[in-house]
Amino acid sequence: MKILIAKNSGFCFGVRRAVNIALGVSKKSGSVYTIGPIIHNPQVVGELENKGVKVVQKLSDIKTGSIIIRAHGVPKNIFDEAKAKGIKILDATCPFVTRSKNYAEKLAKEGYKIIIIGNPEHPEIKYIFSYLPKNTVILNTNEDIKKLKFFPKIGIITQTTQSPENFIKIASGLLSYSNEFKIFNTICPDAINRQKEAMKMAKKCDVVVIIGGKNSANTKRLASISKKIQKKTYHIETARDLKNKWLKDVEYVGIVAGASTPDWIIKEVIRKIKKEDREAVWKK
Ligand code: SF4
Repeated sequence: MKILIAKNSGFCFGVRRAVNIALGVSKKSGSVYTIGPIIHNPQVVGELENKGVKVVQKLSDIKTGSIIIRAHGVPKNIFDEAKAKGIKILDATCPFVTRSKNYAEKLAKEGYKIIIIGNPEHPEIKYIFSYLPKNTVILNTNEDIKKLKFFPKIGIITQTTQSPENFIKIASGLLSYSNEFKIFNTICPDAINRQKEAMKMAKKCDVVVIIGGKNSANTKRLASISKKIQKKTYHIETARDLKNKWLKDVEYVGIVAGASTPDWIIKEVIRKIKKEDREAVWKK
């Protein structure tokens, strides 16, 4: 069996930066919190909790100490409230996510009706939306377009982990809803590279193992892209989820990991696959 590993597997720039900020703070004394998980990987969040970085769901759960703003950002009211309470804030929002928010604010100032292409429930979209006029529209699918009316000017941004195909499909579906458009392609370059790699793996391999948090939008996107091409695509969080039967009589197994998957989990999965392969050969 040959194991192929996607080039862009493991932490992306934004996640590495957020985790390093958290690790740096955890070494100092005092209470450190994040509102919601700092990144979408339960194992990394658990590791950070062991080092003293606690996850709370709301600001009122924090009395003193510091908060680290998660990689996806937090809504403006939470940021402002933390500041007003005198809580020390360490901003680990990914600069690509902040850039999307800045573009959207610029569009609002220029009088565009803002449309965000993304999942309204995702923390990144909640963060960006909180800085925009209340009538900002969030579109998750093409179907949602039908509810819109005509606007003189439309400005578009998209979730950083969006697939380019979905972005193009929804943005082109909007063409008859205005005469003037300003579009910022805010898909993260890292996310695009990973999606291309997932596609390559799916075309080349008999089985593709996607490693990453089940709550991670970018990992789920990789799994769905791969599954469209290779039915035998499996999304796992850790080596424990890997089933030996998936690897039976497989020549090429592809490993693709999401942007918030740490190297140690990837290595564990590879070790388990190699062990299974050795045992399968021995049994033959
Ligand atoms: S995937 Fe891109 S936008 Fe998301 S945290 Fe990583 S670098 Fe930032």
